[in-house]
Amino acid sequence: MENPENAESVAKSEAERLLGGFKHAAGVNPDLVPKALAFCEPYKAYLDAGKTERACAKETRRLLEQAGYSAYVYGKKYKKGEKVAVYHRGKAVIAATIGKKSLQEGVRMVIAHIDSPRLDLKPNPLYETDQIAYFKTHYYGGIRKYQWVATPLAMHGVAVRADGTLAEMCLGEQPGEPCFTITDLLPHLAAEQSKRPLSDGIRGEELNILAGSLPFGGEGAADGVRLETMRLMNALYGITERDFVRAEIEFVPAYKAADVGFDKSMVGAYGQDDRVCAYTALRAEIEQKKPEHTTLCVLTDKEETGSDGNTGLGGEYLFHFLQNLAEANGVNYPAMLAASACLSADVNAAYDPSFPDVFEKRNSSQMNQGVVITKYTGSRGKSGTSDANAEFVGSVTNMLDKQGVPWQIGELGKVDAGGGGTIAKFVANKNVDVLDVGVPVLSMHSPFEVTAKTDVYATYLAFLAFYKQP
Ligand code: MN
Ligand code: MN
Repeated sequence: MENPENAESVAKSEAERLLGGFKHAAGVNPDLVPKALAFCEPYKAYLDAGKTERACAKETRRLLEQAGYSAYVYGKKYKKGEKVAVYHRGKAVIAATIGKKSLQEGVRMVIAHIDSPRLDLKPNPLYETDQIAYFKTHYYGGIRKYQWVATPLAMHGVAVRADGTLAEMCLGEQPGEPCFTITDLLPHLAAEQSKRPLSDGIRGEELNILAGSLPFGGEGAADGVRLETMRLMNALYGITERDFVRAEIEFVPAYKAADVGFDKSMVGAYGQDDRVCAYTALRAEIEQKKPEHTTLCVLTDKEETGSDGNTGLGGEYLFHFLQNLAEANGVNYPAMLAASACLSADVNAAYDPSFPDVFEKRNSSQMNQGVVITKYTGSRGKSGTSDANAEFVGSVTNMLDKQGVPWQIGELGKVDAGGGGTIAKFVANKNVDVLDVGVPVLSMHSPFEVTAKTDVYATYLAFLAFYKQP
């Protein structure tokens, strides 16, 4: 008969060999923690500098120019190791490092999005009622409306003036600047409102932003507060009320990114979906010197509204760039796409122990267990997803194992609990291998999303490894 002690150790080693299971990243690699904490300092600064797609594209451009990227010239043939960038309509960026191999062997792309859920002004937003000036809003992307009231908001955006010049606005971000807010009822008078279902607790037409309360022309002047508000906006930006119709003005949380927890192990901030993947991909791309394959970091717009439009991945701007890259180098474009690989870099829902009902724990991502791979997104029986091939999932996960990058796999919640999509399908539809990879997030799409710093760092390591993949 077998020695029971020996049987125990055999069972342990067989379990290690055969069973899955994921561990806390700090347990797998304790060195990761200090590196992750340091990595997230400039990450928080990137979030603060880029709270809208335009601001993020601008900050990205600053970092790329600092790193020696030149503006891509369509049709030009570049040498190995050259760094180029396309700045697309002020809302999307493509950064690339030319590789040693022919483009015939494909490119390595990491694509993240830099738009986040927010409140946009309507085209005719300003009104006065009861001697208070307000802005009407139309929300952008998936928000839970009740989360956006009674919280400080900052204004960002642009407006085209009558003379065709562009007014750029940013107010509420610097100390001493005014901020904005949306009011909510006091609990004493909220008995009826509190009976509404949560989805209807605050309605779209109740998301009205406080803009001012002093009149011009003395108390009692008709629409004096509206006029005074417009006078102040005119003094700041040289715009008139008519210019709102040719503007994109966005309201976002006014506070800065912060550490969360006694151990400072987490980042709390607005807009981490998906600037956490934008930042990690950008850092990995900038570090490429003479990569084997040409590497691309694409930061796109419009993901939160379904990727339609000329700055979204449902549009052609990225593919026109790729086609030009192929043609300038005398390479067959479809062949280049077929040989290419792409990580669709987007966040996933982290398992939230306070709300376990919507998750299937075995197939959910967990905070601090590393970069999360999502084989498919979609809803109602995998509708609207590209569902990565097992072979490609195999090559990416084997690469992560080889490089010692902590990773996990997760679906977006329970079957039929909801669902969502990413840009993956728009690239996969062009005959490119694509896998969703990103950071688990708590309170996703809220004004204060939370990520674990070890996951942020692991995601950066994953992109570095991917760019090196043969
Ligand atoms: Mn996203
Ligand atoms: Mn999102």
